[in-house]
Amino acid sequence: MTSGDLPTSSAESGDGLASSVDGSLRASLRRSEHIEADLEIHPERYRMLTGDRPTGKLHLGHYFGSLSNRVRLQNLGLDSWVLIADYQVIYDRDGVGDLKANVYSAIADYLAAGIDPARSTIFAHSAVASLNQLLLPFLSLVTDSELRRNPTVKDELANSDRPMSGLMLTFPVHQAADIMFCKANVVPVGKDQLPHLELTRLIAKRFDERYGRANPDQQVFPLADALLSPAPNILGLDGTKMSKSRGNVIEIGMSAEQTAKLIKKAKTDSDRHISYDPENRPEVSNLLLLAALATGGDPARIADEIGDGGGGGLKKLVTEAINEHLAPVRARRTELMADPGYLEQVLHAGNEKATQVADQTLSEVRKAMQMDY
Ligand code: ATP
Ligand code: MG
Repeated sequence: MTSGDLPTSSAESGDGLASSVDGSLRASLRRSEHIEADLEIHPERYRMLTGDRPTGKLHLGHYFGSLSNRVRLQNLGLDSWVLIADYQVIYDRDGVGDLKANVYSAIADYLAAGIDPARSTIFAHSAVASLNQLLLPFLSLVTDSELRRNPTVKDELANSDRPMSGLMLTFPVHQAADIMFCKANVVPVGKDQLPHLELTRLIAKRFDERYGRANPDQQVFPLADALLSPAPNILGLDGTKMSKSRGNVIEIGMSAEQTAKLIKKAKTDSDRHISYDPENRPEVSNLLLLAALATGGDPARIADEIGDGGGGGLKKLVTEAINEHLAPVRARRTELMADPGYLEQVLHAGNEKATQVADQTLSEVRKAMQMDY
């Protein structure tokens, strides 16, 4: 597939990072809805890239917020790329931790959840030299102040007890290389990732403007669009966003017993009548949402069924729903973890395919920049 096969969004007005975050969010939402409707009709027009930082074990936030959506999109027929963002592990910490174990655990989670290596390319970006080489020309296309005002970077910095590293400041540019090396045009994300997508689009546009490929038919890079996640904010057991670094997670790979124990401790409120009200009862509503996602039901209807059953009734129902839904996934995961040779083979094949595609893109970039000696 070449970039010519991929649709790009219509040109947007203005240059630079969108000055109005609200306006840019609205535009992203509109494009996301439009693409969502088109995916079923023309899956062949789209190449999807998503990924995770291997900073720990994947959890229910990943599973319901991202992984099951990736599987849905893969099964619709999209060319799918799943990135293990191992270099991103070190932008906000000193060591790599249990990196290798986390990488293979994530691959087992992907495959167990339904990612099919025949249709999705799973790769680690550290293994793809030519992808990383894109970083140099891309860095020339952004300014220091554009990088510093990225709200996600600011937020990450605020939540970190360390000074800004050069890698943290520039990781959104590295992420642009992740998306652009394979010319992905849809990136399923949560809202927090929208500023990165905006930067990726900016780099794609500036690359073509600066290096003389202004003819739209000859653009090196398509403009990637965000595809907003249907469940972007699964809360953890303490009522804040479920996140590896907050210790509030239920891991995909946990046992049914561990899951039951953790859900028993989950925060709820004192009203015995269960209702779905995400604004005023976030913890109770999050548990209802998890039950709904696990059963394919509706959270408000599940609340009606529980009625005056209180937090205890709610937790019992959620525990059963999650454990039942995940039982086959967990069984496959156990089998996969027992076969590390296979997991390695999947990763190596993905790295090889990603390298071929990145080499091709890098040679187009070098040609556009007159560096094809
Ligand atoms: P860390 O604490 O190291 O940042 P994390 O648990 O937040 O880890 P990430 O690797 O940052 O996980 O998340 C990868 C992707 O998974 C996110 O971009 C998002 O799409 C999805 N995701 C993670 N946590 C959640 C969540 N709680 N709800 C919905 N989606 C989530
Ligand atoms: Mg995170």
